Amino acid sequence: MSKSPLIRTLSDLQFGNQFAQLGEEFFARVQPTAISAPYLVAHSPALFSELNFAGELIQDHSFLDVFSGNQLATGSLSLAAVYSGHQFGVWAGQLGDGRALLLGDLSIADKSEKQEFQLKGAGITPFSRSGDGRAVLRSSIREFLCSEAMAGLGIPTTRALCVIGSEQRVLREQVEKTAIVTRVAPSFIRFGSFEHMYYQGKGEQLRELADFLLQQHYPELQDDAQPYAALLRNICERTARLIAQWQSVGFMHGVMNTDNMSVLGLTLDYGPFGFMDGYDAQHICNHSDTSGRYRYELQPQIGQWNCHALAQAMLPLIGDVDTTQEALSTYVPTYEARYQELMLAKLGLISADATMREQDTALLEKYLELMARNRSDYTLSFRRLSQITSGRNASADDLAAQYQQERTLLDLFLDRESVQAWLQDYRTRLQRQAGDESARQQAMNRVNPKFILRNHLAQQAIEKAEQHDFSEVRKLLDILTHPFDEQEENAHYAKEAPEWAKQLSISCSS
Ligand code: AMP
Ligand code: MG
Repeated sequence: MSKSPLIRTLSDLQFGNQFAQLGEEFFARVQPTAISAPYLVAHSPALFSELNFAGELIQDHSFLDVFSGNQLATGSLSLAAVYSGHQFGVWAGQLGDGRALLLGDLSIADKSEKQEFQLKGAGITPFSRSGDGRAVLRSSIREFLCSEAMAGLGIPTTRALCVIGSEQRVLREQVEKTAIVTRVAPSFIRFGSFEHMYYQGKGEQLRELADFLLQQHYPELQDDAQPYAALLRNICERTARLIAQWQSVGFMHGVMNTDNMSVLGLTLDYGPFGFMDGYDAQHICNHSDTSGRYRYELQPQIGQWNCHALAQAMLPLIGDVDTTQEALSTYVPTYEARYQELMLAKLGLISADATMREQDTALLEKYLELMARNRSDYTLSFRRLSQITSGRNASADDLAAQYQQERTLLDLFLDRESVQAWLQDYRTRLQRQAGDESARQQAMNRVNPKFILRNHLAQQAIEKAEQHDFSEVRKLLDILTHPFDEQEENAHYAKEAPEWAKQLSISCSS
């Protein structure tokens, strides 16, 4: 495949503005507000490479200015999009990019869609309401690391190109340093973008938005007999599959408001997110979520609720309730099939038929139950499972090795006896599975990450960064970019969260 020439300097960058094709009803043109003395906190080498950006681009004298919003890149229009949304289940009316500015888009060789670039934290917009248009260094580092960690896990997400810090401060619960993250995605259009036009009674714009989406991002649906219903169905399916992936790695978004839901099925707007440490399906990662609406076990249902809100907004386009409901009805079966597929792969099981799949699912549920009862670390409980062998044709030496394998897994559980009993069933099941054991183990290690962005790891990197030491941010980024690799030298980054991590309070304030 031919690679396009590397982009080495900012003068090689020519921004287009696909989103600006939509009329003035969709955005406001706003210049970023300059910040003082910008400096580089970190950039994502993986994303640079995907965008054909040369490493040396970071040395371009304009890099800091462009990605801090101090200077507009060639062709960039700089606009804030308007959208509305349901927040915590309640209609919130108009919201919008209160602190994000779209610079424009670039065509990247080998990518079918253009990539939009957005600065988050670049100053006040007409949609800032009472906000200051800024983002703090702490939350910017969290968004940066998690975006790239999710990409490393193979989960659809908006990406993060770089974090640029400034000595400028803002007031949150305390005075904090500010920063700007450059986010990259084919589009930042949200469920709330549709809801906005629907609730404002702007039928023409609603259609314009759907047509734009079909043309730019779902061209394969344009010739469908009912393109708007097909669009809704596809968004529901992507959302269902996305949330199945979240569940499978123990990711909790924290604020699944409809304004934070991407119409491309990407993970969008990283705020009070978290990864599951000790398994607890009722875990609430966002301290501002007092009712637990967005707790882990409810994410799939909330995804469906959000799809309903989108369907409501798209009803005038689709025309009738039955067709709309039919499109919506794909959500549950899509979610269930994908979740089951992902979770059984985590156990390394290939179910030969429906009966076996049912038995395998029961085995999975039993394991989750044991994890819940013991509050065992979600990530490690799956990762260490790959060390278990079936015991088929085992020699005495193998049995000794088997004991060793079990021990590291059992260390995660207080109630060892129950787990040992479960392991017996698991081994019996593995014995029924044809094929090479080491191939199974490798396959399990490709779906059960060893490294996730644990809150305490992010916190340690943030604390150093507050002291102008970015080594830990960069180190973590590097580890999380390939989370399935053993990386023996980084073993301590895979450890369970320490006790103090439980005290970390992650809220909406960012
Ligand atoms: P979020 O909960 O981060 O998705 O934010 C909800 C809405 O509030 C979005 O429209 C944001 O753009 C806006 N917002 C959040 N923080 C700020 C801020 N510091 N300044 C301006 N707008 C903000
Ligand atoms: Mg948001």
